[in-house]
Amino acid sequence: MTTDDALPHATPTHDAPAHDMPAHDPAEHQTPATRRTSKALVRRAVFLDRDGTVIVDRHYLRDPRDVALVPHAANAVRRFNYALMPVLMVTNQSGIARGFLSEADYRTVRARIDDLLEESAAFIDDHYHCPHHPDITGPCECRKPGIALFEQAIVEHQVDAGASFFIGDRLRDLLPAKAYGAQGILVPSPETTAEDVERALAEGFRLASSLAEAAAIVLDIPHTPEP
Ligand SMILES: [Mg+2]
Ligand SMILES: [Zn+2]
Repeated sequence: MTTDDALPHATPTHDAPAHDMPAHDPAEHQTPATRRTSKALVRRAVFLDRDGTVIVDRHYLRDPRDVALVPHAANAVRRFNYALMPVLMVTNQSGIARGFLSEADYRTVRARIDDLLEESAAFIDDHYHCPHHPDITGPCECRKPGIALFEQAIVEHQVDAGASFFIGDRLRDLLPAKAYGAQGILVPSPETTAEDVERALAEGFRLASSLAEAAAIVLDIPHTPEP
């Protein structure tokens, strides 16, 4: 079953109990952030994970010289840019809590990512990160699959959350989509476990072999794999 099957195309019959209503009903997926956005102005957005999705996962990346874009990822980001969809990067950076890198290191790496994308005429509209780790800094609302950073991004960028896409290489990147009745696309990396793939499919998320294929799904265009 694909996520599309859960979209509200079917007309409920009179004898359908309330809990059989479509999962995508926006009224059912109100959050503090969606209540604060103007319904007239909202835009569909793409929420992108960072490590293993846009850049190669180097684990607690600290040195900007170690930043490498995933092949063809910049082309996918540029396609979202051309479609005028805000590209919002949301990343767990527990290396900060663990003392492996500082906030300044994180910002330097972020700037390097922006520079590399710019070389391909692509850009991230905004970056959000969680610097915590529950074992060290205690529980927080911003570490994915928590939705605090998404809530912030939705308000700051006037996002139509329910019509947006959540893309990453881990299940936790996609689970926040559930809070909004939105769609998620898992793009497996070498770090992705078979369990994450299985659970993502069980949750009704899509699977794509590359960020370019995910972009084709989002933009509803044919996907031609890059050589
Ligand atoms: Mg990742
Ligand atoms: Zn956090």
